[in-house]
Amino acid sequence: MAKARHQQKPARVRRIALERIEHLFLQAEKAFKDKPLLSNRYVQLARKIAMKYKVSIRSPLKKRFCKHCHSYLKQGVNCTVRLSQKHLVYHCHECKKMMRFPYKK
Ligand SMILES: [Zn+2]
Repeated sequence: MAKARHQQKPARVRRIALERIEHLFLQAEKAFKDKPLLSNRYVQLARKIAMKYKVSIRSPLKKRFCKHCHSYLKQGVNCTVRLSQKHLVYHCHECKKMMRFPYKK
């Protein structure tokens, strides 16, 4: 019997993956003040888990790292946030690029 190659992981496994991602972002937040490079490492790990288990990082967390250089971002420290008419615009100070997120109330 052939197994489907792109089968989704079981819900239980995905839930654990999501919990680990949450935890890594928590650690990244804590580490940022003293060791910003360590925060970036946590972001990398979280992304790897998301890819491995094919889960998506939930949107509040997506705003906490740069999608271009994957640096952990903290508002007012290494990124600035602007509101345009329909988007939140994040400027990453690490790579000078920007990300846009649809703006919802
Ligand atoms: Zn960046």
